[in-house]
Amino acid sequence: MGRLRFLFSASGLSLSLFLLASLQVFLVIDAKTDLNPIDRDLYHSSGELMEEIKGLVDRHPDKLTLETVKSKNKGYEAEVAVVTYGRRREEGDDRSKFRILLSFGQHGRELITSELALRILSILSEEQSLPDMDPASLNSSLNKLVIKVVPMENLNGRELVESGDFCERRNGRGVDLNRNWSVDWGKKEKDYDPYEENPGIAPFSEPETQIMRKLALSFDPHIWVNVHSGMEALFMPYDHKNTTPDGVSSQRMKLLLGKLNLLHCHERCMIGSGGGSVGYLAHGTATDFMYDIVKVPMAFTFEIYGDGAASTKDCFKMFNPTDVDTFSRVLNDWSAAFFTIFKLGPHQLGEIPSKASASKLDRWVSIDEYLDGYLMERSSRYGKKKEVFELGMQEIRTYFRLFLLSSALLMFMFCSRISKGKCSRPIVSAIPL
Ligand SMILES: [Zn+2]
Repeated sequence: MGRLRFLFSASGLSLSLFLLASLQVFLVIDAKTDLNPIDRDLYHSSGELMEEIKGLVDRHPDKLTLETVKSKNKGYEAEVAVVTYGRRREEGDDRSKFRILLSFGQHGRELITSELALRILSILSEEQSLPDMDPASLNSSLNKLVIKVVPMENLNGRELVESGDFCERRNGRGVDLNRNWSVDWGKKEKDYDPYEENPGIAPFSEPETQIMRKLALSFDPHIWVNVHSGMEALFMPYDHKNTTPDGVSSQRMKLLLGKLNLLHCHERCMIGSGGGSVGYLAHGTATDFMYDIVKVPMAFTFEIYGDGAASTKDCFKMFNPTDVDTFSRVLNDWSAAFFTIFKLGPHQLGEIPSKASASKLDRWVSIDEYLDGYLMERSSRYGKKKEVFELGMQEIRTYFRLFLLSSALLMFMFCSRISKGKCSRPIVSAIPL
């Protein structure tokens, strides 16, 4: 009897478990049918996109070159393809030209940005054209430029998205590549979500960021644009605080963004500092590093598309157009915006030597850059001490600045005391603190 009761209750239990399981399966299927998959009629796979780019480079060796940079860290390997556009290329020619560095696909789920990279490269190689651009004036603008394009900065993260994880924005080992740079790195806001914003164990811990940093420091661009999606916005520094920088360069950036908004964003784009406009502060971003450390005079983050009405579970739709009309509209509008930058950017910035003379002065400022490199090298050599070193970086910088300031004051006092005429060099103004 007791056994029979057990059998009955056991079968009742399995029946309810079975019903529960079926319900769950039904719910999962139902939820999945609401989500948009990647439409292969609109979007290339990462492999196809690279093939298209290689095809362009092969067909236009006079304009385009391609290099693939690889880097490895603790068994994690990353590669970044860099396409360089420049006419009548000669050795050493890059330095005399106006230099523009563009990065796309830093976040895995923002596939539309890499489609835009391909469109821009197709127009640069003259296989596609812009409807409203006069070819003669475009040609004269492009002759003065060298443009480096990184079409898919986060290839490993993108591959996760392509295998079905549509909400993934981080790299192949869970680090947000736009929080892995050294300016104000690692600071966490109250609403910090490691799934979205994990900054990594140290600044430049990720091979992708290391590759991009090297590229930026060696190329030394006049304009940097980090291209994202999720909303429509034209951002300038800073991301880690809600203000824009002071001075002429800030005015120039605002002016250019205002023109782009008017001409190409139907005045819908939000303009201003990333930190002040987007509703949250972002620490350790690429654009803040480009502006503060690489001293790129015009450093931007563009957000080229967002669907605010999409369900927050439907990541693909939140970050990427899902119908052919919107897809084409976004690519047309934003490729035109970039060609406006190619045309207006050099004028906006004035003469090219302004960057060269500025960068001579900045050799002093680049103590930050030096310390970053030095500490990174030490941290990788000493393994476990890495985080201690990184945490100490801010303090070391502060002490170094104080040291420079006090030395300058001492020298100034010394000079003015012992020989009023001899020390006529303006010591204080040469110290960029
Ligand atoms: Zn993004």
